[in-house]
Amino acid sequence: MENIRVDFNRPVPLGNEYEYMRQAIESGHISGDGDFTKKCHAFLESELGVNKALLTTSCTHALEMSAILLDIAPGDEVIIPDFTFVSTVNAFVLRGAKPVFVDVRPDTLNLDESKLEAVLTPRTKAIVPVHYAGVGCDMDSIMAIANQHNIAVVEDNAHGLFGKYKGKFLGTFGSMASQSFHETKNFTSGGEGGALLINDPVLAERAEIIREKGTNRSRFFRGQVDKYTWVDIGSSYLPSDILAAFLFAQFEQREKIQRHRKNVWEMYHAALKEWAGKNGVQLPHVPADCEQAYHMFYMLLPNLELRQKFIMYLRERGIYSVFHYLPLHLSDMGQGFGYKAGDCPITENISDRLVRLPFHNALTGSEQEQVIDAILDFSFA
Ligand SMILES: *Cc1c(COP(=O)(O)O)cnc(C)c1O
Repeated sequence: MENIRVDFNRPVPLGNEYEYMRQAIESGHISGDGDFTKKCHAFLESELGVNKALLTTSCTHALEMSAILLDIAPGDEVIIPDFTFVSTVNAFVLRGAKPVFVDVRPDTLNLDESKLEAVLTPRTKAIVPVHYAGVGCDMDSIMAIANQHNIAVVEDNAHGLFGKYKGKFLGTFGSMASQSFHETKNFTSGGEGGALLINDPVLAERAEIIREKGTNRSRFFRGQVDKYTWVDIGSSYLPSDILAAFLFAQFEQREKIQRHRKNVWEMYHAALKEWAGKNGVQLPHVPADCEQAYHMFYMLLPNLELRQKFIMYLRERGIYSVFHYLPLHLSDMGQGFGYKAGDCPITENISDRLVRLPFHNALTGSEQEQVIDAILDFSFA
């Protein structure tokens, strides 16, 4: 049988995307904070129960806003899991902070909460947990340590929209959380996009100002001031309403998207469980108190050589699988901050072994069958 090409990711419209983009254009308001942006804000605020949601041009920019809102300054230290995307750390380094990398747990690949106390100093300003693969970090422990030492928590929830920890939505624990609507995430705003969720109401008004080039333009439009002016530092973090139109159409398909992703995840897990056990492959672990967001399906192969062979083997069968983050502490930037090999051994180990299988909103049953059949035929010899 001829193999079909199975993409790792394929962003697709699922409902009213084209219609809403057309409506946005015809409305005559396609810059930021138009009707569809407001609909997206209201949706996130009511579904998640957050104080305020603001769409941004990316998750990277939402993280940058959070660093400005916390007044991060040179000399401050910010605790980041070693296994994450560069934006999680870059947003704080841009403000002059020193990144303090903490290793991850070998079971969930999330920030290891048991290693937090040892790295706290009087200069620690923030902890930025990442809910890897949409599986919640141990937020009880992280929030307890943060509250005891008066340290802010910003959740990088790029993977975790609609996931829960102990029945409460991810992104609602810290004073703020970032979301990504990049084309590789569960929901996309047509390629690039993000949001800042603000749980601490004290931060809400300043967040609007920072997002609007440091002006009080949002208050002006609400009639709260009679002209708008430069009141703070800031930048242009608001996306076009055309992107919000695309995103709102995806939000409307929330149930369908999450149901599909759950099915894909459970199909991989059921089909590969026995094979994984026999071959020393570790499948994702979801703690009992977590409801995951079904962002990805990853596996840990026994070692780097087998992981590389596995990716090549699938590629020859038209199947596109990928590895993920490299340890931040070993990057050029990480080494520039004084880190060296051995500082975060779990991340060094799992980063070499991790592979992500094709996983997206349009993956078909026959594509998934082709992936599973190929995996079951892989030779570990
Ligand atoms: C995707 C991602 C980001 C960046 O998202 P953008 O919207 O592309 O800026 C940040 N953190 C994590 C954990 C991500 O997966």
